[in-house]
Amino acid sequence: METDSTIISAETPKGTQVEVRESGVAGKGCFATKPIKEGETIHILRGELLTGPEIDQRIIAGEERPDDELQIGENLFFALDNPSYFFNHSCEPNGGIRGASELFALRDIEEGEEITYDYATTVGVKRDPSWLLGNNDWIMMCRCGSEKCRGEIKPVTSIPEKTLDRYIQRGAIPAFIRQQLSQITPWLFETQQNSLAL
Ligand SMILES: [Zn+2]
Repeated sequence: METDSTIISAETPKGTQVEVRESGVAGKGCFATKPIKEGETIHILRGELLTGPEIDQRIIAGEERPDDELQIGENLFFALDNPSYFFNHSCEPNGGIRGASELFALRDIEEGEEITYDYATTVGVKRDPSWLLGNNDWIMMCRCGSEKCRGEIKPVTSIPEKTLDRYIQRGAIPAFIRQQLSQITPWLFETQQNSLAL
């Protein structure tokens, strides 16, 4: 643990397994305050519930940035709270999102490790061309430092198929994205059913 880190865990909810402090990845990040076992729930990401057009208005007004929301449905977003907002992206994450917004451990995580998830798994396919958000053109530069770093992070359909398949197998795809993908790339789900049947 770094000695010069700024710990603001006092602002995070009681009973949580994370604290917010300076990150080696980008700005602040969320770190495990105790060892977390593979499959365990780390944190339920939350925030103010807004529709696409409502978030668009805030982006236009300069009150929100396009990278700061979590999409949880076709037309539903969280303007993420503290600490939900502070989980960084990684192209080789130790966490994943399942259900609506449940962050869970993809592997055993040690105390003091930064917790990350792949943002691309939460950015769906654009359905309403008038929105700024949920946009197929969404792009975020990444310097996560992983050997598997994709450099540019784009919506879920941009994830290399092998990686996407692994996320699906591990259940690390939010519910509404799963529904979109089962229509766009049904073969990935057929593979899963086959492997489960074996
Ligand atoms: Zn990366």
